[in-house]
Amino acid sequence: DLADIGVTGLATMGRNLARNLARHGYAVAVHNRSASRTRDLVKEFGGEGTFVASEELADFVASLKRPRRAIIMVKAGAGTDAVIDQLAELMEPGDMIVDGGNAHFADTRRREAALREKGIHFVGTGISGGEEGALNGPSIMPGGSKESWEALGPILQDISAKVDGVPCAVHVGPDGAGHFVKMVHNGIEYSDMQLIAESYDLLRQALGATPAELAEVFREWNQGDLGSYLIEITAEVLDQVDAATGKPFVDVVVDQAEQKGTGRWTVQSALDLGVPVTGIAEAVFARALSGHPEQRAAAAGLEGPKLSGVGGRELIEDVRQALYASKIVAYAQGFDQMAAASKEYGWDLDLGAMATIWRGGCIIRAKFLDRIRAAYDADPALPTLLADPTFAAALNVAQGAWRRVVTTAVQIGVPTPGFSSALAYYDGLRRDRLPAALVQGLRDFFGAHTYLRVDREGAFHTDWSGDRSEHSA
Ligand code: NDP
Repeated sequence: DLADIGVTGLATMGRNLARNLARHGYAVAVHNRSASRTRDLVKEFGGEGTFVASEELADFVASLKRPRRAIIMVKAGAGTDAVIDQLAELMEPGDMIVDGGNAHFADTRRREAALREKGIHFVGTGISGGEEGALNGPSIMPGGSKESWEALGPILQDISAKVDGVPCAVHVGPDGAGHFVKMVHNGIEYSDMQLIAESYDLLRQALGATPAELAEVFREWNQGDLGSYLIEITAEVLDQVDAATGKPFVDVVVDQAEQKGTGRWTVQSALDLGVPVTGIAEAVFARALSGHPEQRAAAAGLEGPKLSGVGGRELIEDVRQALYASKIVAYAQGFDQMAAASKEYGWDLDLGAMATIWRGGCIIRAKFLDRIRAAYDADPALPTLLADPTFAAALNVAQGAWRRVVTTAVQIGVPTPGFSSALAYYDGLRRDRLPAALVQGLRDFFGAHTYLRVDREGAFHTDWSGDRSEHSA
């Protein structure tokens, strides 16, 4: 019998996705470059459903019902291109190739355009939730054509996470939209983690609290507005004790954060689009700073403030509020980036739907996303999440605490780039007049770049090196 859908690439992610499909009653064709992975899958998990195994890619393609649906779960980059080329040779117009790997959205746009020429639907799909999500229900962000969504949507919704009965999978938009949205998801994940790390660091330094005590703080926070997967697992990690030394686990881990690249991609794209995603950028740069041990060693002797141990227990509630406010800013920026890309690439993204499919299955899943969805439900053209009445009120409540937290951090010399830059963004965006006017003046002075006036139409230039009279440009 022919399979409903296939998965090629059976490492951690592909294997779990194939099992998830089989557990939902789909007959799943499975294939991997090295056949041993395919054999292992069938041997270990064959009892979970119907697997149709092939050792050759041609047999894998031949084992699929028409129009064919094949998911690629291989190493992103050259590996993906190789597999796409081989599959495209074997497929026919109307067939669908789904790339579930972490591809750059520009690659996805290129691949989609090339396969469209051959009549093959290429569906770049963001899949979040790691190993566990792939097996039990990830958040799924497919791009590609509407027709491909008709054929794939019901299956993807079936295997996705559900929140209040709503699947965490929608058709994001054409070509690279799915991978773009997954990229921004990961960027936001970076900023969430950075803000959590700053909260932990500041409380530990200011109060002298132990990791175990802070685990309790995060556990409490998880009951309120901040309730989320990342806050929940922060408590778990802070509570962990190293078996070998008896020390807190967090104290035996090398303090250099690594990155696989999606945070960097998010910031690169934001620079191209001209969207200030300062929260994500600070998170990427904080990881980069941590990863320079030679510079850190050379700078270790630099003086810091003499002050320490400031603040009492009230700092805990202040930090909670600063974290919440900074999180609102970071998400607002990420959603701005999606809005800008939607315009640039003609994707017609439904921002509220993005919040909806991130509520479950993925790493940034949080109660908070319900509020974002509500904000876009109330006003789909919302210029910034900060202006949503609910978020505006929350920021107003938090801003006093937020300022105290940044002040304390500066006083005791604990770096909180996430908190401070989010606050600077908030203060920048809400300002009546910005010093950008002076920047425009300087640009006109040295480069005759011209400026606009607040009171008249048109562009102007002042004759700075002459009599300083103004001329219409
Ligand atoms: P890896 O990224 O470790 O990739 C290993 C798989 O790729 C193996 O099946 C390997 O085959 C195959 N492969 C590599 N190069 C080629 C090639 N040239 N031709 C054919 N097959 C090739 O696997 P993961 O399961 O970790 O991830 C799969 C994809 O999912 C990646 O794009 C990853 O970025 C993405 N992803 C991963 C997440 C995670 O939590 N791990 C979360 C979300 C997405 P072989 O066995 O023969 O070596």
